[in-house]
Amino acid sequence: MANKNHVVVIGAGPGGYAAAFRAADLGNKVTLIEKDETLGGVCLNRGCIPSKTLLHLSKTIDDVESVKKAGIEFLEPKIDMKKIQVWKNRVIKKLGGGIKLLAKKRNVNISHGEASFISDKSIKIINKDKEEIINFDQCIIATGSRPNSLPFLEIDHDQILDSTSVLSLNKIPKDMLVIGGGYIGLEMATVYSSFGAEVSVVEFLPKLLAGADEDLVNILNKKLKGKLNEIMVDTKVLGSKKVKGGIEVEMESKTGILSKIYEKILVSVGRIPNTDNISLGNTGVNVDKKGFIHVDEYRRTNIHGIYAIGDVTGDPMLAHKATHEGKIAAEVCTGIPSAFEPQAIPAVIFTDPEIAWAGKTENELIESNTPYEKAEFPWQASGKAISIDRTEGKTKILFEPKSKRVIGVGIAGVNAGDLIGEAALSIEMGCYAEDIALTIHPHPTLTENFSNTAEVMEKTITDLYLK
Ligand code: FAD
Repeated sequence: MANKNHVVVIGAGPGGYAAAFRAADLGNKVTLIEKDETLGGVCLNRGCIPSKTLLHLSKTIDDVESVKKAGIEFLEPKIDMKKIQVWKNRVIKKLGGGIKLLAKKRNVNISHGEASFISDKSIKIINKDKEEIINFDQCIIATGSRPNSLPFLEIDHDQILDSTSVLSLNKIPKDMLVIGGGYIGLEMATVYSSFGAEVSVVEFLPKLLAGADEDLVNILNKKLKGKLNEIMVDTKVLGSKKVKGGIEVEMESKTGILSKIYEKILVSVGRIPNTDNISLGNTGVNVDKKGFIHVDEYRRTNIHGIYAIGDVTGDPMLAHKATHEGKIAAEVCTGIPSAFEPQAIPAVIFTDPEIAWAGKTENELIESNTPYEKAEFPWQASGKAISIDRTEGKTKILFEPKSKRVIGVGIAGVNAGDLIGEAALSIEMGCYAEDIALTIHPHPTLTENFSNTAEVMEKTITDLYLK
């Protein structure tokens, strides 16, 4: 079955190392090239893991605050950012060490250095002053992405931060402007506002989290309005200058031009693919106008033997999508007839409350004129949500009309990110409302809200009264 060949993977992020490990497990000779000193890519070193570590700490502060009204009061928190950085780095190191060990166990050859193509069969690796050339039978490009920037706001990692430097502050700023109301901006706004900074968010579009359904975003918005200093939507940042006390930012909203001074600015305006640093021109691999590599369902590029996975292939730019693609590419490289054809790629915004969805969003169904039916379960009727004082959430399931097969699920509420896994499975398994409604969920848990929502569709719900 399997052809033994030399598979070279460029980039050791969640896409690249998964591809390398799967390829090695399938009997290939594997070289994994990484320009950073550590493995794990953006996700581990400057993305998912450090941001979620900080979010865990900030949520603990909020949780402690929230039990005051129930009769438990703690002293004011003392936040030592230097210690938090040590803690965060320890988490990264532990996971990074695990990846290194898993590579060693599989005999994956790790080559540290910056890779670029010489041809569609060979790669040059530069590490400091050393240069090495290797040939490959198959190559998987997994070079990921980096933060986009604004021409008039040069990142200095001191006053003007990007998504990497904002994770490494040793001091909590008095105030911060987050430019960009996407998930990274809002997660960081959540962290630093809970840590005590006055955080404002400015977004060019008319609403935050443009890709998410409005009813879910509204639930988060209510909480953010009480937490953040200012949320400015429909507002464009025009320019900035360094002044005494911080950075003066000029913005234009519907009501006119305004300028304000902030101690720190976080520029969080999307991500661009790392395809301009690997001499793709020497291979003939096509990229689109924005630099993303076009691939088919087998993750093959237009050049035989060259594959691409993860952020370089475009949206959704998420770690779990990269990992899944990595495994598919490794299998296809080895002659296994796998394909990337998920019915649902879950997306989570790890704010508080969290927002998560899988499958079709309601926005998508409306925009494409696709008929659907919807059932919703308000968490005010959930025993668990009431007992933990988090009733602001809701679960909604979108169904194919007539058949009542699940085509999309949206959740806003605490732990939505954990709850969406079951929803993704229900879509992949082609579940009907009845399947979910008849699955006994444990009580009292937030997981019950999913079967309760299906019961709303089935009209068998007893936890709500529906006319
Ligand atoms: P990357 O993780 O970007 O890895 C690419 C690797 O390639 C890097 O290590 C890079 O150094 C290396 N490389 C690049 N060029 C070369 C070269 N020429 N030679 C050698 N090596 C090279 N996603 C989620 O799913 N959940 C989250 O909660 C989440 N949170 C995030 C929070 C933040 C702040 C950020 C910035 C991102 C977050 N993401 C999250 C997105 C996630 O990190 C990415 O989708 C994921 O890392 C993409 O994986 P990848 O393997 O495609 O590439």
